[in-house]
Amino acid sequence: MNKTIFRSVLLACCIIMVFSLVFTLFFLNSYFMNIEFTNLRGQAEHIAAAVDKLGLEYFNSFKDESYRVTWIAPDGDVLYDTMADERNMDNHITRDEIASAFRTGYGHDRRFSDTLSKETLYSAVRISDGSVVRLAVTQDSIVRITLGVIPYMCIVFVVALILCTFISKRISRRIINPLNSLNLDEPLENETYEELSPLLVRIDNQNRQIQKQIDTISTRQKEFESITDNMREGMIILNSNDLIVSMNTSAMKLFGGSGKNIGHSVLVLERSVEFVNALKAARENGRSEYTFERNGYVNRLIANLIRDDNDKVLGTCILIVDETEKVLSEGMRRQFSANVSHELKTPLHSILASSELLMNNLVKDSDKMAFIGRIHKEAEHLVTLVEDIIRLSQLDETKDFPTEKVNVREIVDSVVEALEKSAEDKGVRIEKDVDDITVAGVQRLVYEIVFNLTDNAIRYNRKDGYVRISLHMEGDKAVLCVRDNGIGIPAEHQARIFERFYRVDTSHSRSTGGTGLGLSIVKHAAKVMKGTVSLESEEGSGSAFYVTLQPAPDDK
Ligand code: ADP
Repeated sequence: MNKTIFRSVLLACCIIMVFSLVFTLFFLNSYFMNIEFTNLRGQAEHIAAAVDKLGLEYFNSFKDESYRVTWIAPDGDVLYDTMADERNMDNHITRDEIASAFRTGYGHDRRFSDTLSKETLYSAVRISDGSVVRLAVTQDSIVRITLGVIPYMCIVFVVALILCTFISKRISRRIINPLNSLNLDEPLENETYEELSPLLVRIDNQNRQIQKQIDTISTRQKEFESITDNMREGMIILNSNDLIVSMNTSAMKLFGGSGKNIGHSVLVLERSVEFVNALKAARENGRSEYTFERNGYVNRLIANLIRDDNDKVLGTCILIVDETEKVLSEGMRRQFSANVSHELKTPLHSILASSELLMNNLVKDSDKMAFIGRIHKEAEHLVTLVEDIIRLSQLDETKDFPTEKVNVREIVDSVVEALEKSAEDKGVRIEKDVDDITVAGVQRLVYEIVFNLTDNAIRYNRKDGYVRISLHMEGDKAVLCVRDNGIGIPAEHQARIFERFYRVDTSHSRSTGGTGLGLSIVKHAAKVMKGTVSLESEEGSGSAFYVTLQPAPDDK
């Protein structure tokens, strides 16, 4: 800036100086010409007086070669010329200076002389006999004088140039120094020359506007970051050159990146063929997606091209969604359907086989009742199985069960009443130690829990065994415990018995009317009511199932 102003001022000075010098030379030339005409007239009058007195004789002694003298008769014929033969010369009556001298006594002119072949100044004076004496001098002398001035002018030019340089430097410094020391953060605090005030006021206004915009942008940025950082999905935003503009915490965890990767190519994070192809496909088609596995999780990556209103590509938004649960539940659903078909097939085959034998009269009369009894038992098992499947699928499908106040003691009583007979048949004693507790839950689901656990405790018990149902408050939870001293569950099976259709001993389960779904229903039902299920069991000694439930607000 300093240099620019300096150069501009110096250039302006130089241009002015060059113009001044050229004009000065031009005016000097005119000035010298006027002086020359004045001199020439003096000389012409002097010579004219001599010619008037001496006539042609004067020219005998004329030796000055710097002038050309011509004597012209009143009719315009040349009587004598100091530099040419008058006999060869034209009539001069029409020459401007001569015509003027004949008319007024004096005349002058400047033109190209054919005789001297140069630009020439003429001065003509009329003498007493009516003839005219004319003096001519070439312009060379004026040019010589003018050129003689140039060296002095050059000296003036150089001195002026030095002065200009000095002044330009000072001017540029005076302009620039206050500008350089301006505090642009507080423009109105500066004390500087007046002309800068409007600029400083504008800068101050702009500073305020910029600050406002920065505040808005950073607030939005923070909002955006807090939203994206709390997302379970990974999100990466790339610019049009595939450089990372933003990346949330989930994406960093997944790709092992950090804040340092912002501004760098996304390929630093991930360079798998699928990823590169997905970016390419998104650029070509606007969107692409693929599924990949990482750290034991199944993820779906969706890349979407971001365009502005004019369809210009601004970048790409990459979203990574965890689909592990979806994939697992799909697998489980497939497994469940396969199991259901298998479970249904067994009793149906048995029913078909027994009924065919009966229909074809292949059963002895004495055995018929046993066959019919088997068909009935298998049909009952089918009904129980179908009911359990329906219960489970209701639990799977219903998102929000309306919560109500449930008196668990009443439910325990009705379950005991319902199972009393089968307990008696098995020779199992049921004991109760139940507090009067009301929980926040679903009546039907609490019943399912108590019924399934008590039914299991009876079925997997031994003669003279017991089932003890207890319900107490423990901390802020209601804890239901169904304990038995039956066959117990081997340690290696304990982790899996809550899975659908998982049984420790399939034939024992079937023979006692089990479906393999009871504990799944218990676990699911407890979960729906924000409760938990746990198990303590020892093979041969018995089992204890604990279910925690949320007490109804009044009972807390
Ligand atoms: P099932 O209809 O076969 O009883 P459940 O889901 O209720 O199905 O139970 C799963 C398996 O857990 C049973 O097959 C049985 O082997 C075991 N089990 C459940 N409760 C008990 C218990 N109280 N004592 C011993 N084993 C049990």
